[in-house]
Amino acid sequence: MQATLFTPNITDAGHAHDCAGRANPEGNMNRQYELKELIQSGNFVDGKWLEAADHARFSVSNPATGESIAQVADSGPADARAATDAAARALPAWRDRLPKERSVILHKWAALIMANQDSLGALISLEQGKPLAEGKGEVAYGASYVSWFADEATRIYGDIIPQQQRGKRMTAIREPIGVVAAITPWNFPLAMIARKIAPALAAGCTVVAKPAEDTPLTASALVLLAHGAGVPAGALNLITASREHAIAAVADWLEDPRVRKITFTGSTPVGKYLARESAGTLKKLSLELGGNAPFIVFDDADLEAAVDGMLVSKFRNGGQTCVCPNRVYVQAGVYERFGEMLSRRVAALKVAPATDAAAQIGPMINARALDKIARHVDDAVEHGARVLAGGRQLAELGPNYYAPTVLADANHDMLLCREETFGPVVAMFKFETEEEAILAANDTPFGLASYFYSESPKRIDRVSRALETGIVGVNEGALASEAAPFGGVKESGYGREGSKYGLDDYLSIKYICQGNLA
Ligand code: ADP
Repeated sequence: MQATLFTPNITDAGHAHDCAGRANPEGNMNRQYELKELIQSGNFVDGKWLEAADHARFSVSNPATGESIAQVADSGPADARAATDAAARALPAWRDRLPKERSVILHKWAALIMANQDSLGALISLEQGKPLAEGKGEVAYGASYVSWFADEATRIYGDIIPQQQRGKRMTAIREPIGVVAAITPWNFPLAMIARKIAPALAAGCTVVAKPAEDTPLTASALVLLAHGAGVPAGALNLITASREHAIAAVADWLEDPRVRKITFTGSTPVGKYLARESAGTLKKLSLELGGNAPFIVFDDADLEAAVDGMLVSKFRNGGQTCVCPNRVYVQAGVYERFGEMLSRRVAALKVAPATDAAAQIGPMINARALDKIARHVDDAVEHGARVLAGGRQLAELGPNYYAPTVLADANHDMLLCREETFGPVVAMFKFETEEEAILAANDTPFGLASYFYSESPKRIDRVSRALETGIVGVNEGALASEAAPFGGVKESGYGREGSKYGLDDYLSIKYICQGNLA
């Protein structure tokens, strides 16, 4: 079926006009959009906002109230294919742009994102539920990756290999891998997709992207701004889809030989599925998957710092991040004291909708997420956990709220030890020796982040090396930075986002051997 040009159902006509396949004029480079102007309901393919080919739509709702915010395109394989067609067509010209030209466009995009920090932050809060301050923080965090990779675009070096034989010159150059498919989760609706699109575009790849069904609006807004910054038609394409339709749409990318790379953040089962199903065309993959992070507090820790670190790492986004501590191991000598100090601070956290400026914890993303948290807490209590704080749903606030919770006397028979709870629940396990803590911390198929608190330099060295994770926080709870390599080991996946390593995933090495020179 022929795709039709989309008429936005919420935005005003002037806005739709701006997006009809033309770059904004130079004067609009710092244009500030109202929140409602940022809401797009169509797919963005080849520089145009389009309905899904079969005109299907699905509803996006506010997790704080359950009310619908917008109806957006519910895409299928035909839309995925149209996006790939556009990305494949745009690839030669984008790849051949000077790195400096790509860099300038990405810097403009970063500036435009920051010029719209307030309305983008509000949009994140509206569709994802995180407090407004965190929503705005996420905008700055996402923009920092765009600026970082704008700079890295001009630093894609190769090697001249020292001469091995007379008359031969051997060089290694790094080239964009081709069309990249990006699939992202709902917990950071802006940052997760920005840190995939930015390195892909910086490297000279073109992109097809599908955001999570819970939070497609922020991704569409980001694409709107990218286009406004001068990313050419076809270089960046976005389709939205409900979970049901997404499977068939993404399957089209998995089978299409023109898509050379999949970059995915989400759950481990879906990551494995993507790896399996893309094997037929041997795509390169970056997979940033589940975490189940351990957080260890040794007897010699600075307990105030450990409590601060726990609050920062655990309660960001209501405990819905893949680097949130899920298992907290506290040494016997400080177990009760740490539990008291922590539960006092946790009980004081303000749970409220993002519209309340004092909110520190918002609603969980949906009913499924809330059910999982309640199931984990109930199961822990049945297996002997003591509730030091929280431990219940806050139905009086709305449909998806759960009280920040601290549980003592956790053990390995509990569900929350084996699965990520993905909510505001701290489960404290007691341990006696360092060896015991490390064994327990590593006793999981996952290996994304880990944290520990100790004031002993020798222990810090030993434990940092012993933990089987891609990221280790030592006396620090806030680890993410565009300058650092973010990613996991074991079943937490592979590939790194951010840092000087972050472009490698979007490049392939070509070895050129020139002979007959002597
Ligand atoms: P979560 O449990 O946090 O929703 P998922 O791994 O299920 O994490 O989802 C992450 C992203 O992967 C979302 O964009 C989702 O739509 C997409 N997704 C989930 N299952 C599939 C699938 N079978 N095929 C393609 N995409 C999928």
